[in-house]
Amino acid sequence: MTSSSDSPPGPARRTALVWHERFAWYEAGIGAGFAPAGGLVQPYEPVDAPAAKARLRSLVDVCGLSEWLRLLTPTAAGEDALRSFHDDAYLERLRQLDAAGSGDAGEAAPVGPDAYETARLGVGACLLAVDEVVAGDVDNAYALVRPPGHHARRGEGVGSCLLANAVLAAHHARDRHGIERIAIVDWDVHHGNGAQEAFWDDPDVLTLSIHQEGYFPPGSGALDELGGPAALGANLNVPLPPGSGHAAYLQAAHRIVAPALRDHRPELILVCSGYDAAAMDPMGRMLLHSDSFRELTRVVKEVAEEQCEGRLVVIQEGGYSPAYTPFCGVAVIEELVGVRVCEDPFIDVFRGMPGQEATPEQLGQIEAAARVARLLDMHLDQLGEAMGRAGDPG
Ligand SMILES: [Zn+2]
Repeated sequence: MTSSSDSPPGPARRTALVWHERFAWYEAGIGAGFAPAGGLVQPYEPVDAPAAKARLRSLVDVCGLSEWLRLLTPTAAGEDALRSFHDDAYLERLRQLDAAGSGDAGEAAPVGPDAYETARLGVGACLLAVDEVVAGDVDNAYALVRPPGHHARRGEGVGSCLLANAVLAAHHARDRHGIERIAIVDWDVHHGNGAQEAFWDDPDVLTLSIHQEGYFPPGSGALDELGGPAALGANLNVPLPPGSGHAAYLQAAHRIVAPALRDHRPELILVCSGYDAAAMDPMGRMLLHSDSFRELTRVVKEVAEEQCEGRLVVIQEGGYSPAYTPFCGVAVIEELVGVRVCEDPFIDVFRGMPGQEATPEQLGQIEAAARVARLLDMHLDQLGEAMGRAGDPG
């Protein structure tokens, strides 16, 4: 299984993996897919079942990748940290749901026992990852958490997400470490609506999401959602048609994500990394494989090294194939470390699938998103120049 010629670095480990066994224990209520059980829905498994992420954590050990990692265990985030984004009424609701042991935290956000406690541990893992990276104890970090967070709103859970992990990590980087310019890149197959909403009118936080067009949340993630009046262009969406594969995603990464990140000049980059755009995922209708996620990570890592001393924190979002999610996550962590130790036994099948090349329709949508980003750039520059001229007494 091993193909690396390098040996593990001993104590000088420069990538952190943050994980708590509670993430594997947490069951998000009783349902089948995204429908709650009852009536005609026979109890089966909710979409965010533990197996995919638990097996990712297991594979990290079994393939030998752990030997390259600084392994960290988080503590639960305090409510003060949560209040940097969430409102009190929602936190009270989560407390009550924990007391009840089940219920729904919002739109398609069923919860099981210890939901709030587990979600607070997830936030704690993200904050710890930020602390480690900003302190320079590691170059980059991966917070392998459940439940996911990128759909969560200020006052409600959405789509299996309870607390807004990446948004809270960004606020923590600001409040605790004085970091002002942050970028959040989201390649989960669903739209990263939480960060978009949280930083809608904030020019210092670039939010950028590549996702399956028009999927979830409904009506969210269109090309023309560009940020509020004070932050026009600080939110970019790249909606891609169902069936998009490796080449389309890499085009989007090189033509939109990398230039937008360079323009933004972030001091810290956060990635919301879901694997539900993988070919084998039950939720997405995309065709990615582990090398796609590896190369997406490479693009962002290179910009981080160029712009912000490599400060990069990857946060786990979706990924619902217990068989395949682990290989996608391991590829991302390998790329963070800069090593190859794990062979993906599925990859030849997915690489050989028709659809990995970009179609004219996909390229058209990427070109449209790139044009929007370029136009914004030009116009914002022109606006800045015009305003400078207007204020110039000469
Ligand atoms: Zn997702």
